[in-house]
Amino acid sequence: MMELKRFKYTPILGWSMTRHNVFSTCKRKYYYQYYAKFDPEFPRVRIEALKELTTIPLETGAITHDIIRVLLRRLALTQDAVDTDRLFEYAKDITQGRCNSKVFSEVYYAEREEISLEDVFPKVKNSLENLLGSERFQWLCDPKLQRYDRWLIEPPGFGETRIDGMKAYCKVDFLLPVQEELFVIDWKTGKQDEDKHGAQLIGYAAWASFHFATEPQVIRPIIAYLSPDYFEMELRLEQKDVGEFAQRVRVETEEMSAYCQDVEKNIPKEKSLFPITSNRRICEYCNFRELCKIEPIST
Ligand code: SF4
Repeated sequence: MMELKRFKYTPILGWSMTRHNVFSTCKRKYYYQYYAKFDPEFPRVRIEALKELTTIPLETGAITHDIIRVLLRRLALTQDAVDTDRLFEYAKDITQGRCNSKVFSEVYYAEREEISLEDVFPKVKNSLENLLGSERFQWLCDPKLQRYDRWLIEPPGFGETRIDGMKAYCKVDFLLPVQEELFVIDWKTGKQDEDKHGAQLIGYAAWASFHFATEPQVIRPIIAYLSPDYFEMELRLEQKDVGEFAQRVRVETEEMSAYCQDVEKNIPKEKSLFPITSNRRICEYCNFRELCKIEPIST
């Protein structure tokens, strides 16, 4: 069994790529996303409810991940052929349940009346079909290659790790050792983004290197794009890549920490120092737009 290292809780700010992306996008959004409990203007519960809003693309990704997790757990127990009809029926039920129970931003902000199965399920199904038809899946089904007892499928927790001593989060989907190498695979239902996802791959390698005390060269981080076609992006890493990544994490952690009045306790400075973005296009898709009273851009 592959064991992850554990950490004693500390409140200090922890870097993550998502966190820094939000920070770079809009400081006010960053405040709502990470410091809702300090807000003097709106009740925390209102901010948290907006934070929880989902979208069609987000929910498509979340459902696909959930089904793949179930699929991999089954595969770790038995390599018998998958009954695809049953799998898709199951996926359809899950999708319908989410369409009924989740609050979608598109509905909340009155862009659509409702979200139906047809808005989400076709892409979930396409992603699953592509995965099942991929060489990667065949490889996963090969008991001569795989050590199923050593698979880590969606490790619990938030992916906490240390990068050059700094607290950071890199949440990985799937880790599996194959012979001398450690594969880390991340499933994506969205568009390819070489720069963003390339950096994410280095983060996964740093995470795996820390938790399993391995050299980066033996780690194989892979992003598997599932839709519209199956496609993989992989990086072969060298020690210097991890060093450069650690430097990036250091700079970005310092940038975000500069917005804290107490860095150790991760207490933010006052809200007025987190300005709203001047790029109104970003607001069009932001969950918090009712708080900023941003009017839609007229076209
Ligand atoms: S609506 Fe615009 S200004 Fe307000 S938090 Fe979102 S991105 Fe920032």
